[in-house]
Amino acid sequence: MLRFEKYVRPETPREAYELLQENRLATVIGGMMWLRLADRTASLGIDLSRCGLDKIEETDDAWRIGAMVTLGQLERHERFAASTCGIFTEAVRDIVGTQFRNLATVGGSVYARMGFSDIVCALLALDTEVELEGAGVMPIIPFTERGARNDVLTHVIVRKHRYQAAFASVRNAATDFSALNAAAACWQGSWHVTVGARPKKATLLTGGERIPLRRDFSPAELDAVCELAEGLDYGSDLRGTAAWRRQVAPALIRRAVAAAAAKPRAEKEA
Ligand SMILES: Cc1cc2nc3c(=O)[nH]c(=O)nc-3n(C[C@H](O)[C@H](O)[C@H](O)COP(=O)(O)OP(=O)(O)OC[C@H]3O[C@@H](n4cnc5c(N)ncnc54)[C@H](O)[C@@H]3O)c2cc1C
Repeated sequence: MLRFEKYVRPETPREAYELLQENRLATVIGGMMWLRLADRTASLGIDLSRCGLDKIEETDDAWRIGAMVTLGQLERHERFAASTCGIFTEAVRDIVGTQFRNLATVGGSVYARMGFSDIVCALLALDTEVELEGAGVMPIIPFTERGARNDVLTHVIVRKHRYQAAFASVRNAATDFSALNAAAACWQGSWHVTVGARPKKATLLTGGERIPLRRDFSPAELDAVCELAEGLDYGSDLRGTAAWRRQVAPALIRRAVAAAAAKPRAEKEA
């Protein structure tokens, strides 16, 4: 069981951040769904539930998702779903069950950077940034690769584009962790394809600073991306071997790209 010697519920992210700087061994509390599995005593628990981070806000050019927004809110927000082609509804619908998704948070999912994360895999394919109370705003890719130290994640920002986007995963059993997942999103004329649950962290394969895959790619160009996917670093765990993942990844990528390409492009203003 996880125990806290002291438990606080600050009113603002700044206050939470300052408490964290004063006590570097403190634990930030999101939905507690992952943390509750731990068996330890933490000196201080900083609960973010009063910090006003539980809203999905729309601006002219982006969606600002508060860290305490639950996976359930993400799944059910119709305007956000229309603006992102339903990729998050697809990414979260197999995570445990409705009650669980009504508690687990976006902030906990992104900050923890778990290898199997379906949410991180989907976010990486879109034009996404993270906002941290200490470090400010940064693109999600370096954050996912390197993480942050003693920061409070306040928002995930998804920039609006005329997306086509889809998520695909393979699970050994319904509601189990993904044994492999992939997301594909086309924006600003090129495809952004991610592969996760390798079981290492999701990684971007095409788009951004990676090799480009044009919107109207030829079959040979998609073949080249799939070949590249075979060359990723895979590992073995309870859910699959590295060899199995290497073989399945190209098919999963083709599935995600085909599903995204079959969707109408999202309106920028959903
Ligand atoms: C049984 C089980 C099955 C799961 N299955 C899946 C699955 O299939 N797919 C999937 O994608 N995910 C899955 N998850 C992960 C889940 O979706 C959440 O990502 C996870 O529970 C973390 O979210 P939380 O809100 O519970 O965070 P918490 O447990 O509260 O925190 C997790 C970590 O993040 C830190 N943290 C939380 N919020 C912040 C913040 N705002 N700023 C800084 N640090 C913060 C905490 O200190 C802690 O280290 C599963 C989890 C469990 C327990």
